[in-house]
Amino acid sequence: MADGSRSKRAAAAASQRTRKAAADATAKEARVTRPERLGVTGSPPEPDYPRYRVEPGEGVRLADVDPDESEHYAKQKDVLPELESTRDRIAELQSRLYAENRRSLLLVLQALDTGGKDGTIKHVFQGVNPQGCQVWSFKAPSAEEIAHDFLWRYHQRVPSRGLIGIFNRSHYEDVLVVRVKGLVPEDVWRPRYAVINQFEQSLTLSGVTVLKFYLHISKDEQKRRLESRLADPDKRWKFSANDLRERRHWDAYMTAFEEAIATTSTEYAPWYVVPANNKWYRNLVIARTIADTLEAMDPRYPEPEEGLDAAVVDD
Ligand code: AMP
Ligand code: MG
Repeated sequence: MADGSRSKRAAAAASQRTRKAAADATAKEARVTRPERLGVTGSPPEPDYPRYRVEPGEGVRLADVDPDESEHYAKQKDVLPELESTRDRIAELQSRLYAENRRSLLLVLQALDTGGKDGTIKHVFQGVNPQGCQVWSFKAPSAEEIAHDFLWRYHQRVPSRGLIGIFNRSHYEDVLVVRVKGLVPEDVWRPRYAVINQFEQSLTLSGVTVLKFYLHISKDEQKRRLESRLADPDKRWKFSANDLRERRHWDAYMTAFEEAIATTSTEYAPWYVVPANNKWYRNLVIARTIADTLEAMDPRYPEPEEGLDAAVVDD
């Protein structure tokens, strides 16, 4: 009896130590996902530009986020110099991340149809070495995928050491479209929030920094973009009759996004709600966040081999 309670106490202490180690490691990662707070001992400085991060536990009302926001920038030309210099920073830091070969960065892009996921990838990652970058677009699951647990297909695509991975749609579809369309019952999708948080925490603990972006457009803007896809022969291929059906569920999607973001914006894997009616402003916001986060990760070129000064390349 006494032995039993001693071993129970020991087990409890061990599990407390495990939890503390995990909390310490995720707190360390959280400093990286809040780069403006790095190196600050007192209260954090105001960010010098809006970051649109959803703080853990605070939630978000999407109706209160202005999709037209663009700070003091009025047009695309105004952001170009900063966008270009930010892209250069990303390219330089990516080169270090790749060479260092120890950690990776996972970017999750979610939006409603026409929200700008493809455009973001095209514009933000210009200049990045394709060898160090992987893009995965997730569609409705195949028969094989659906025969597995919902995370199966995503977990396989998590970037390995040294890489930047981009999820164009992601495991969040399994609490978004799946919820809105009733593809599985609530008692199946609801526990997924907790599963997702554990998944992302476990990635964090193995050196994957996770950033998640919701590209926020208005319903009017979606109408304009769908109409322009219909009107332009070169854009028609992107139009799907299903987009019109999805659009009818706009309010249900807003609710599903709000709950997903509120429940899964964590210290270690934060959500950013990015005003996205202006494509150029959206690109700037996302590029800044990626560059700042990579900078805070501080990837280093590995030490060269010893004795290279004396190395001679034969004729
Ligand atoms: P698109 O991104 O326009 O190529 O469309 C991909 C489609 O796949 C969208 O309609 C998504 O809602 C759908 N999709 C992606 N992931 C899932 C999922 N896990 N379950 C059901 N549908 C999905
Ligand atoms: Mg589509």
